[in-house]
Amino acid sequence: MTTMRTISVLGATGSIGASTLDLVRRNPADWRVAALTANGNVAELARLAVEFSAELAVVADEARLPELRDALAGTGIETAGGAAALVEAAARGADVTVAAIVGCAGLAPTMAAIEQGGVIALANKEALVSAGEVMTAAVERHGATLLPIDSEHNAIFQCLQGNSLDHVRWITLTASGGPFRDWSLDRLTLATPAQAIKHPNWDMGAKISVDSATMFNKGLELIEAHYLFPVGLDKLRIIVHPQSVVHSMVEYRDGSTLAQLGPSDMRVPIASALAWPERMDTPCAPLDLAEIGELTFRKPDEVRFPATRLAREAAEAGGGIPAVLNAANEVAVAAFLGGQIPFTRIAAQVEDVLGAYAPPAPASLSDVLAVDGEARARASMLAGTA
Ligand code: NDP
Repeated sequence: MTTMRTISVLGATGSIGASTLDLVRRNPADWRVAALTANGNVAELARLAVEFSAELAVVADEARLPELRDALAGTGIETAGGAAALVEAAARGADVTVAAIVGCAGLAPTMAAIEQGGVIALANKEALVSAGEVMTAAVERHGATLLPIDSEHNAIFQCLQGNSLDHVRWITLTASGGPFRDWSLDRLTLATPAQAIKHPNWDMGAKISVDSATMFNKGLELIEAHYLFPVGLDKLRIIVHPQSVVHSMVEYRDGSTLAQLGPSDMRVPIASALAWPERMDTPCAPLDLAEIGELTFRKPDEVRFPATRLAREAAEAGGGIPAVLNAANEVAVAAFLGGQIPFTRIAAQVEDVLGAYAPPAPASLSDVLAVDGEARARASMLAGTA
């Protein structure tokens, strides 16, 4: 890269935030850090804001703002707190905004960044799943560039370069299958949060790790792919690939399949988005296929893991249904992590909420947030966490 660009990281204290800032750290001449945000981890946010000389640090939990102010007193770094401040930070715009908040909580700030028309490097899949049509229309309207950093979608994005969607026969999302891919249904009922967040290949935040264990992660990704690469749901499929080396594939009408391979390190897809349309170095070890030896693939099992079926049905229904699925899943995952429901109740509970609530299609951000709120309330009642 030749010119210095500004970058804001929404969700700077998380796993994606850390991977992003590691790349920024290695290329200090390329980046000026505008805003960094967190939910409540003030100590880490303040440390990062100082290290990267951020212009602004925002903590979403407004009660923690005094703590953030104290931590950054005398540094000249601006501070702010609360959900509205998060949106304002995103609305200041940056050449690149990395959307890495977990959950639908990231939707409003991501939309605010989109409205500024820059590059949005999107990790926050829940935002796109909830607001699909509303978000893609906003991207179009404001001339923003949405670059996926979810590894599968980044892989697909790369495999599509120079090709027309019209020539696509299949887009195949690969799934590791998560830590329980070989567990029986009986054993799954006993799965604990500690086991669920121990992913075999990736080091990720707790929520996405549970999503990976239930396969809701792949379900959300199916919906994400549906909005990012509109080839039709019948051309999107999922395959289990335990080694997580092939990050996804595109098959064209002539029988050619293009795949993107790489180490299981999110710095690779993040670097691809940060440098796009160029390339940049990462510290990741080169892929050693001879050492890996074998790449295997198998069909997903939707009896043990119904999440991908539920997601496909939600995508087919469209409108507000994906937002209901996402909200119900977020509540169920939190209840599972809190020890309130067993692992297998997560998908069952999402299915119950989907069966009971079919809102009209949202036409705006506030419509999406209303659907999200109502679905959350219903899911919380079911989980006994209301
Ligand atoms: P983490 O849990 O590690 O980090 C989440 C970040 O969001 C933290 O900065 C957290 O702040 C902040 N946050 C949490 N809740 C709120 C809230 N209510 N309001 C504002 N900020 C909030 O998550 P990950 O980094 O693992 O995931 C982030 C997103 O990226 C998710 O959507 C995930 O699906 C997606 N993703 C992640 C991958 C990974 O490898 N981790 C891979 C592909 C996609 P605090 O630290 O203060 O709590």
